[in-house]
Amino acid sequence: MSHVTRLTILGSTGSIGQSTLDLVRRAPQGQFQLVALTANRNAVKLAEQAREFRAEIAVIADESQYEVLKAALAGTDIQVQAGRQALIDAGAAPADFVMASIIGAAGLEPTLAAIEQGCRVGLANKESLVCAGDLVMSRVKASGATLLPIDSEHNAIFQVLDTEHPKGVTRLILTASGGPFLNHSKDAISKVKAADALKHPIWDMGAKITIDSASMMNKGLELIEASYLFARPSAEIDIVVHPQSIVHSMVEYADGSVLAQMGSPDMRTPIAYALAWPKRMQAPVEKLDLTKLSGLTFFEPDTERFPALRLARESLEAGGHATNMLNAANEVAVASFLKDEIRFSQISEIVEDCLSVLVSRHKPSSELGAILAMDAEARDTATELIKRLR
Ligand code: NDP
Repeated sequence: MSHVTRLTILGSTGSIGQSTLDLVRRAPQGQFQLVALTANRNAVKLAEQAREFRAEIAVIADESQYEVLKAALAGTDIQVQAGRQALIDAGAAPADFVMASIIGAAGLEPTLAAIEQGCRVGLANKESLVCAGDLVMSRVKASGATLLPIDSEHNAIFQVLDTEHPKGVTRLILTASGGPFLNHSKDAISKVKAADALKHPIWDMGAKITIDSASMMNKGLELIEASYLFARPSAEIDIVVHPQSIVHSMVEYADGSVLAQMGSPDMRTPIAYALAWPKRMQAPVEKLDLTKLSGLTFFEPDTERFPALRLARESLEAGGHATNMLNAANEVAVASFLKDEIRFSQISEIVEDCLSVLVSRHKPSSELGAILAMDAEARDTATELIKRLR
C-alpha cells in the first residue's frame, strides 16, 4: 500500500485497540496516520498512545478525566476532548478507516457516526449490531461504508463467503471455543467466581467479553451479529464447539462444499485483514503448522449448561428489540457479577427474567431514540432484579 491510511481507533486503550496499534507500530513508516484515539477513563494510557502515534485528537469519554488527559498531553499539538458528544465526533472525524472497538452498547453512537462518513469500518463492537442491527445495516447501505468484521468468526466468514451468489450458500457455521467451563457440570458452573471466569483458555481479551465467553453469551451475541452482517435467518446459522479455535468459522454451500478459514488464535490476524483489505499485510502471528496439531474436534453446544445461547437465539427470532434488551440486561448482569454481587449462573437468569418482563411490551424499532430508550429500560429492570436478589 502506498498511500497513507488515516486511521481512528474508538476504544484504543482496550484489547482490540492495543492489538491494532501493535500492527500500526510494526507497519512501514507512513502507512498509517492516526486521526483520533479514544478511551473511557484510562487517560494515562490514552495520552501515552496519542504521543507515541502522534494522533491528531485524543478523546476521553469520562469528563472527570479531562484535566488528567490535558495535563498528560501538555506541550503537544494534540487536540484534547472529553464527553459523550466528543466520542461521537471522533467517530465522524474524516478518516479512511475507523476501528470500532469500544465495548458494549456505549459503542453504538460513535460506530454509527463512523459508518455515516462512508469509510471502511472495522467492526469489533458487535454490540452495535445486537442493539440496533436494522438501523446499523440501513446506515451502511445509505452511506456506502464498508463493514469489515473483526470478530475472528465473522472475519472468517467474510473471507470465505461468496456474496455474488448468495443462493448457493446454505449455512453459516460459527465455531466456539467453549470457554473455561466447557467441561464443568451445571452445578460447578453456578459456583464459579469472577477470577475463574476471567481465565480464558485461548483468547486474551477485555473483562466483559471474557465473561461473555465463559457464559457463551458471546457466541449468542455473535449469532445475532452474523444474522445482521450476512443477512441470514437464525435457522441458517449453526454454532459448533471447537475447543482448539483453529477453524475460525465456515460457510456451507448447496453442493456440499464447506469453506473454512483457519489460523492461530490471534486477533491480530482479523485486525490485519481488515486494515489491509482488500490487500494483505504482515502480522506477527504464529504460523499454523497443521502437522503439529494434536487434532481438531467439533461438537454441539449444550444450551442446558449454557442457557445464554438459547436466550440469544430466542431473542434473534423475536426481533431487534429483544436482542437490544438481551444485550443491555447482560451488560448490567456481567458488571454485577464482576463486582461479586451475583453468582455466575444468575447472569443468564437475570437476562431471561428481564426479557420475559419486557419483550412483549415493545416492538422492533430502527429509530435511535427508541433503541436507546429500550436499552435504558432493560438496564433499569435488570438493576431492579439484581437488587431483589441481594
Ligand atoms: P476492552 O474492555 O479491552 O476495551 C474496551 C475499550 O472501550 C477501552 O478503550 C475502554 O476504555 C473503552 N470503553 C469502555 N467503556 C466505554 C464507554 N462507556 N464509553 C467509551 N469508551 C468506553 O474491550 P475489548 O477490546 O476486549 O473489546 C472491544 C470490542 O471488541 C467488544 O465489542 C468485543 O466484543 C469485541 N471483540 C473483542 C475481542 C478481543 O479479543 N478482545 C475479540 C472479538 C471481538 P478504558 O480503557 O478507558 O476503559
